[in-house]
Amino acid sequence: MILIRSIRAGRRSIGSSSLYSTSSSASFSSAASIEAERTIREGPRNEWSRDEIKSIYDSPLLDLLFHGAQVHRHAHNFREVQQCTLLSIKTGGCSEDCSYCPQSSRYDTGLKAQRLMNKDAVMEAAKQH
Ligand code: SF4
Repeated sequence: MILIRSIRAGRRSIGSSSLYSTSSSASFSSAASIEAERTIREGPRNEWSRDEIKSIYDSPLLDLLFHGAQVHRHAHNFREVQQCTLLSIKTGGCSEDCSYCPQSSRYDTGLKAQRLMNKDAVMEAAKQH
């Protein structure tokens, strides 16, 4: 487990909320550092208050980057990158009109429409990547 500490004696970070501030001038922890440490210790949570979110949002930028990276590295191998491939299983000929999309049949975009791929072809394409 990674231990996260951002308590700096005698310094106070700029832009931090009072929600996580300590009254002592000798130490200070940003909301980013406190919540990162808690997340690593207890896991993610989903019952945030607006003040808590604001406190994290208002944490010093470098604290956010540092502690965000700590949480990310706790949950993921930082040397691994997940690669994804988009496969259009049906191209063009769409009956909708989303204005920006060349797949809508309502516009002449030069796109060559293709029928819906069958499941086996989709599975084969997925295995190749
Ligand atoms: S027009 Fe494009 S974005 Fe809109 S529903 Fe059709 S495919 Fe999707």
